Amino acid sequence: MNELIAPTLPYDMMPRARAAIADVHLQQFVGRATHLKDEQRKSVFGADFGHDDYELLRSVAATTKQQALDQLDVLLEQFIERAQAHGSIVHAAVDAAQACAIALSIAAQHEAKYAVKATRCVKSKSMLTEEIGLVDALTRAGIETVETDLGEFILQIDNDAPSHIVTPMIHKDRAAAARSFVRVLGSRYTEDPEELTAIARAHMRGLYRHAHIGVSGANFLLAEEGTAVICTNEGNFDLSVGGPPVHIMFVGIEKLLRGARDLAPFLKLLARSGTGQPLTVYTSFVNGPRRAGESNGPKELHIVLVDAGRTGILGSSKRELLRCIRCGACLNACPVYRKVGGHSYGSVYSGPIGAVLTPELNRGAARAEGLANYPDLPRASSLCGACLEACPVKIDIPKFLLHARAELRTRTLSPASESRALRLWRWLAQRPMLFRLAIRASRLHARMLGQNDGRHAWISNAPGPAAGWTQSRDLGIASAQPFRAWFVQHAAERDAPPKEAAR
Ligand code: SF4
Repeated sequence: MNELIAPTLPYDMMPRARAAIADVHLQQFVGRATHLKDEQRKSVFGADFGHDDYELLRSVAATTKQQALDQLDVLLEQFIERAQAHGSIVHAAVDAAQACAIALSIAAQHEAKYAVKATRCVKSKSMLTEEIGLVDALTRAGIETVETDLGEFILQIDNDAPSHIVTPMIHKDRAAAARSFVRVLGSRYTEDPEELTAIARAHMRGLYRHAHIGVSGANFLLAEEGTAVICTNEGNFDLSVGGPPVHIMFVGIEKLLRGARDLAPFLKLLARSGTGQPLTVYTSFVNGPRRAGESNGPKELHIVLVDAGRTGILGSSKRELLRCIRCGACLNACPVYRKVGGHSYGSVYSGPIGAVLTPELNRGAARAEGLANYPDLPRASSLCGACLEACPVKIDIPKFLLHARAELRTRTLSPASESRALRLWRWLAQRPMLFRLAIRASRLHARMLGQNDGRHAWISNAPGPAAGWTQSRDLGIASAQPFRAWFVQHAAERDAPPKEAAR
C-alpha cells in the first residue's frame, strides 16, 4: 500500500500507466463507472437547475470559497475560538508527521486515563488521513485501526489503496469484494450488494461497540458556529463519532467557510457533482463533545487542523487549487483518468486535481522540489478542458497543468528530446513557406503509412518517436484538406452575397 501512496523517487508514472492500460478488467471497471457518474452528474444538474442556474451556482460557490481562502487567518482564529467554546480540543499540525504524532499522543493519554491495554480505533473515510499516512502510523504504534467505509474496508483487507477520491474501490468489482469477504471474514460467497453490505455491517457493529477511538475527516468547517460538517452516504461517520469515548477529526485548513450562511451552495454541488445524488445520504453537523444529559457522542472531541503544504499554496499564485471540495467530478470526466485509473498517478490525490495539487502539497519549505518529484503528472492530461467544465468550484485545472509544464521546461525537468522538438517546431513555425511544405510532406507520409476506411484515416503502428502513441491507440491522420484551405473556402462562402441578391 505504501508503495502506491508514496512512490520511491525518482518518480515514474509510466510503468503504472502501462500496467493499467494492459489490465482489461481495470479498464472496464474504471471506464464504465466514471462514464456513468459523469453522465449522472450532467443529467441531475440539467434536471434540477438548467444550464444558467447551474453556472450561477458554480460561480457563487467559487467566489464564496475564494473569499474564505482570502481571509483564512481570520476564519481560523474564529473557528478555533468557537470550537473551544463548545468544548472541542483544537490542535494544529504543520505537517503529516506532526498530525500523526498528535493522534498517537491522544491515544496514549486515553490508554493511561482509562487503563486501556490495546487501543482499538474505527475510522471513517477521509482523504486527509490517507494523505498523512495515519493508518500506518497508528498500526505501527500497535493501535488496531479499522476502516469503516465499505469500499475502504475492502481495500484495507486486500492491502490495497484507494484509487478515487469518492469511490475508493472503483478499480474493483463485486466479485473481488466477495472473494475478500470469504477469505478474511469467513462469510459465504455472494455478489449480491445487499448481502455484502449486511456481512460488512454485522462485522462492523461489534467493532464500533468495542472501539476506544473514532477517527474522521470533515467536508467543511463553519467559522462563525465552530461547527464541522461531514457528508457521507453510509452512516459510518455517525457511528464512529457516536460510539467511542474519544473522537479525532483531521481537517485541512482549507476546509473553512465563513459560516452556515455560506454552506447551501456547496451541499447542492458536492453530491450532485460526485455521484449525481441530490444530497449525500447523511449530512452531519458536529458541535463539540457530548454534553451533560446527552446519551451519545464522544466524551472528548479533538479537531486537528492540518497544514501540510497548504499555507505554501495559499501564498502562491495557485491559491485557487485550495477551493477543491474533493467531489471527484474532474476524475470522472477526465479521459486520461478513465484509461489509467487512480493508482497510475502514484499519489493519494489522482486525476486532474491530483496532477496539479500533489506537486504543490509536496513542495516543502523550499517550495522547489515538488514538481521535480512528480514530473509525469502535468503530462497526464490531454488538456481537453473536461475537468474545468465539471468542476463545481471552477478551478482552472488546464491552466495550472500548462503552468506546471512551463515550469518543467524552465527547470529543465522535461526530457531533452521534448525541448529539441519544441525548438524545431518554433523554428519551423516562424518560416511560413517551409512550415507549409513540412506539413504537406508529413500529411503525405502519414497517408502512405496509414489505413483509410473512406471516412476516417489512421495509423496503427507509427514509426520513430510516435511509436509510443500507437502502442495503445491509433493515431488519427489529419484530413486531406489543410485547415488553411478549409478556412479560406468557408470564409469565401460566408462572405459571398446571397444567391437571390447576386441575381
Ligand atoms: S478539482 Fe473540482 S471537480 Fe476536481 S475534485 Fe476538486 S472540486 Fe471536484
